[in-house]
Amino acid sequence: MNENIKELMNSVVQNDYCIGCGICATLKGSQLTMGLDEDGKFRPFEENSTQNSKMDINPLTVCPFSNYSKNEDEIGKIAFNLENKANFNEYTGYYLKNYASYVKEGEFRKKGSSGGMGSWIASQLLRLNLVDGILHVKAKNDSDNNMLFEYQISYSEADLSKGAKSKYYPVEMSKVINLVKENEGRYALIGIPCFIKSVRLLAEHDEIIRDRIKFFIGLVCGHLKSEMFAKSMGWQMGIEPANLKSIDFRKKLVGKAANNYGVEVTGDVKGKRVVLSSPTKSLYTTNWGHGLFKYNACEYCDDVVGETADVTVGDAWLPKYTNDSMGTNVVIVRNPIIQNIIEDNRDQLFLEEITTQEVYQSQASGFKHRREGLSYRLYLKDVNGESRPNKRVQPSNDISEKRKRVYEKRIQLYKQSFDAYKEAVKVNDFNVFVTYMNPIIKNYDKMAGPSTVRKILRKVKRGVYLVLNKAN
Ligand SMILES: Cc1cc2nc3c(=O)[nH]c(=O)nc-3n(C[C@H](O)[C@H](O)[C@H](O)COP(=O)(O)OP(=O)(O)OC[C@H]3O[C@@H](n4cnc5c(N)ncnc54)[C@H](O)[C@@H]3O)c2cc1C
Repeated sequence: MNENIKELMNSVVQNDYCIGCGICATLKGSQLTMGLDEDGKFRPFEENSTQNSKMDINPLTVCPFSNYSKNEDEIGKIAFNLENKANFNEYTGYYLKNYASYVKEGEFRKKGSSGGMGSWIASQLLRLNLVDGILHVKAKNDSDNNMLFEYQISYSEADLSKGAKSKYYPVEMSKVINLVKENEGRYALIGIPCFIKSVRLLAEHDEIIRDRIKFFIGLVCGHLKSEMFAKSMGWQMGIEPANLKSIDFRKKLVGKAANNYGVEVTGDVKGKRVVLSSPTKSLYTTNWGHGLFKYNACEYCDDVVGETADVTVGDAWLPKYTNDSMGTNVVIVRNPIIQNIIEDNRDQLFLEEITTQEVYQSQASGFKHRREGLSYRLYLKDVNGESRPNKRVQPSNDISEKRKRVYEKRIQLYKQSFDAYKEAVKVNDFNVFVTYMNPIIKNYDKMAGPSTVRKILRKVKRGVYLVLNKAN
């Protein structure tokens, strides 16, 4: 095996820091193919380990979790130079403007996860003939190997709209990146932060990719989920894991807050096709704070808002906007071309400029977990003498004892969720998962929740608020 591939496999993949983006598998001579591991997460596998093949690109320089690749600040500095009047913020990276926004035109908002800006921006790139195709995630057409979603290329607005909505599901890019290499054209890529980072890194070394991938549209990211997440939701609603056929992770619930959305699953029960839905919050595995079925790599990522993307879209989780069940985006613009597209189409959009402080607030818990929390996780790795990726965040244990326990328990939560799920599958009973996880979850909730003093203070505050409101 090539020495660099050997190091990639040892340092990143064996240590479970791989996010499964698939870029290493696209490199000439890598002899890697992408597949799911036993936890339902993508990773590269060696096709033919006996041959020592020559590679023209060192895989360690394009892997987002290797210690030999550029970090987000370094990539951003090259991509968005300050002459473009970009500002820099330690949480959001380079930016020109930030917005809270949704699409008024057509069905973008109705079909989208939040305000539909993700699909709308990609549509504009097609409409204005700035690109020929969009690389994004859509339902799989065939159901070989049982996967529900995959990266595909959409060449028309109609095709693009079929891929709207978030897929909290394992995906990899090797197939579409190879298609880009083989087919001349101009493309835009939609992806979570580490996927955007890996293609930015590849573009630095690969002229064809640099010439052809013209725009990067990032998605704000809490973390990526193994396929067990989708299957666990279907299972709780009555569809056994092997019989799940499709899932809508973001069904808007009219009249509810935007962050109180539903899930809809399709599958076979007793030989009959059924469609079932439920409010997401009422399912056992869906609390994002618990982070069940999370990729380990996500615990070692400090980019919440796709800092290397030309534009990033996420949910505007701010009290001002969450009341509207149809959803509102937070949008961070870094490329003047995208900035002009948005400004030129003001009449088609709801558009309010917001501050970086508001962007931070909209993802406050994500930032806290991936900056303060990451700092402590790095410290733990170092004191235990374990290898770990270099990050912009420095290792530290300078936080309260309570926060330390919170971060430690969160690691336990996602690590144990894989074992618990496998135990449940063995006996074909989801209750086994619940029985396994209950003590861990209860213990975490008790510790991470507000203290008794804080609970009392909240009650007093609420009481005073109600009395004052009555008096008025
Ligand atoms: C794994 C994951 C975690 C996320 N975590 C957060 C979070 O913590 N906070 C937050 O504010 N937002 C998060 N988001 C983003 C959010 O869920 C919405 O995707 C975003 O607000 C865009 O909504 P929209 O209505 O503008 O996009 P839409 O119009 O619905 O378009 C979304 C586009 O993204 C593509 N897409 C969907 N899933 C993926 C994927 N996995 N990889 C690549 N492309 C994909 C679709 O194919 C579509 O083209 C996350 C998204 C993902 C996929």
